[in-house]
Amino acid sequence: MQILHPFAGPIQRYFDEIADADRYRPDHCPQCEAKRPLTGHGFYHRTLVDATFDGVIRVRRYLCCCCKRTVSLLPEFALPWLRFSITVVAMFLVARLLNGLTLAAAARAAGETVMPYQRGQFWIRRFQKQAPALSLALVSLAAPGHPRNPAADFVSRTLRMLESIGWIAAHRFLFSQLRVHLLGWPACLIPTGRRTTLASACSAP
Ligand SMILES: [Zn+2]
Repeated sequence: MQILHPFAGPIQRYFDEIADADRYRPDHCPQCEAKRPLTGHGFYHRTLVDATFDGVIRVRRYLCCCCKRTVSLLPEFALPWLRFSITVVAMFLVARLLNGLTLAAAARAAGETVMPYQRGQFWIRRFQKQAPALSLALVSLAAPGHPRNPAADFVSRTLRMLESIGWIAAHRFLFSQLRVHLLGWPACLIPTGRRTTLASACSAP
C-alpha cells in the first residue's frame, strides 16, 4: 500500500528527509490498524521527471510486524504509476485543455522540450475520462465562492477547481481519503490502488 509523504520543497530536501527512517515513520498500520509503529523496510526506486529533476528517487518502505504487509511513503509531488510529477502533468493539461495551446506549446509550457505525441494524448484522454468523478469528489474542497459555471464542461470545470485548490493539495485529499488517482488507475492495478509495490508489468508513460 502506498501512503503519501507530506512533503513540499526542493527534491534535494526530500532526499535528506527520507534518509531518517524515524522522521515520518507511521505510528500505526493503515492496513490492519495495528497500533504499533511500523519497522523500516528499506526503499524502492522509481523514476521521476519534474521541472528541475529527471532521474531515480528512493521511496521509503515500512513493514507492519502484525500483518506482514508493507507501506511505502510516496512523496506527494509524485503520482503513483506515472513517471512525471504532478506539477508537470498539471501545467501540460492546463495549457492544452484550458488555455487551448497546441500539444507542442503545452509541452513547452510544462517545461518539456520533447513531448511524444502519444504521451500528451494519453494524459489528455485519461484526464477527460476521470474529470466527472474528480469534479464531484473535489466539490467539498472547492472554496464556497468558487464559480460553478453549469455551462462549463466537466474538463474545464475540474481544471479550474484543481487550479484553485492546488493540484498537490487536491491529490493529497483524493489519494489519501478516497484512493482516487488524478488520471485514474490503470487496469493492472486494483481499483483501490492498494498495492504494496508497483507491478513491473505496468509501464509508466
Ligand atoms: Zn498491519
